[in-house]
Amino acid sequence: MTTPPVCNYEGSDYQTSFWDKGGREYEDRTEAIALKRLLPPSGRLLLELGAGAGRNTPRYLGFDRIVLLDYSRTQLEQAQQRLGKSDKYIYVAADVYRLPFIAGLFDTATMIRTLHHMADAPKALGQVQSVLGSGGVFILEFANKLNLKAVFRYLLGRQPWSPFTLEPVEFAKLNFDFHPKAVRRWLKDLGFAIEKTLTLSHFRVGFLKRIIPTSILVFLDSLFQWTGAWWQFTPSVFVRAKVEGRVEKANGRQMAVGRWLRVKDEVAASPMLFFKCPDCGHSPLMERENYLECSNCQRKWGVKGGIFDFREPV
Ligand SMILES: [Zn+2]
Repeated sequence: MTTPPVCNYEGSDYQTSFWDKGGREYEDRTEAIALKRLLPPSGRLLLELGAGAGRNTPRYLGFDRIVLLDYSRTQLEQAQQRLGKSDKYIYVAADVYRLPFIAGLFDTATMIRTLHHMADAPKALGQVQSVLGSGGVFILEFANKLNLKAVFRYLLGRQPWSPFTLEPVEFAKLNFDFHPKAVRRWLKDLGFAIEKTLTLSHFRVGFLKRIIPTSILVFLDSLFQWTGAWWQFTPSVFVRAKVEGRVEKANGRQMAVGRWLRVKDEVAASPMLFFKCPDCGHSPLMERENYLECSNCQRKWGVKGGIFDFREPV
């Protein structure tokens, strides 16, 4: 199966260089506020896509269980160090274009600063939709090509690409900015209803961050976030979307919503039942000593150091 290229943070010190020492306290705190405004306060099972080193994970503690997914195993190892190994967290290394989860599994999914790296965003969003249950909530952050800086640069002739057109712009290898209207359209086409939109990082300007105390910028940003309901000209946009009622499709079978809920109860009690084979879609997988085995295509998916690895079969 061919899927689009992925941006791999394997071996990256992203958490330290970008977040801990990179002067991003303002961005981090405004994200915390947005998540509080958008996230259901509690729930059973949350999928964190592009979890990285688990920077946002402590913000999801109202959920019984959290599945941290990232393509990079070393990022997940950093998350393990930060959060510890407990039944509450399940660590999964996998490709977002081939998610290894059964249909309709999750109550809630988050994808923060991750769509940014998707060469085929609608395909990735479609995968998210398929693993969310009816009424499932999706919190998505995306980088906005229609930000004021890009608009001014374009109008002054200092930037070749137009911020006004709907196609994504790849401004650096595997780094994409998106038009808010395009993202809304993809979500709608997939059966999501958009409930809320917040704009973030109104003051992501170097000299403002240097001369104004972070707390004041964070407070002002928290007020301005609500204007996202009317217009979006900031570099970062959060949306809360909901899967509208539908009949679940699993392994080609039609599964009525009621039955799905009963199955989900069984599933929540046993994380092994969360998974399907990312290559052939078969579930359940058989639990072996150091791997999970697909009885349909015989592929084996490694489990090492508390991390399920679905990137390549062993
Ligand atoms: Zn298989």
